[in-house]
Amino acid sequence: MTVGLTLSEVTSFKAELVSLLEQLRSEIVEEVERSADLQQESMTVHDSSEEADAEVNFMLKVESLSRHSEEIAECLAALERINQGGFGICTDCDEEVELSRLKACPTAARCIRCQSAHEGLIKKSA
Ligand SMILES: [Zn+2]
Repeated sequence: MTVGLTLSEVTSFKAELVSLLEQLRSEIVEEVERSADLQQESMTVHDSSEEADAEVNFMLKVESLSRHSEEIAECLAALERINQGGFGICTDCDEEVELSRLKACPTAARCIRCQSAHEGLIKKSA
């Protein structure tokens, strides 16, 4: 199995993933700090509409945090694939992932075909 990516391409993807990871981490730290503020605010709300707003804000934070942690997991998995030499290879069909797709989304683990099949499955089972 040959990887279609050159060493310099892999190196630049790696640098991109590492900086993405750092960015995600600092965003999470910021969000955790902000949600601590939010919690304080929610303790000072008095009427029920303010309470509902605080609840909505809280849920949005939780959603955003879990999305960020998923993105971190994807970054780590992509870096792992770089270290093991499987980066750029679809985890489902072992074909090369399109370079244009990797450039748009360096954490992509699947080729476009498998990804859409995968998303189709998720939609069907939901
Ligand atoms: Zn595939």
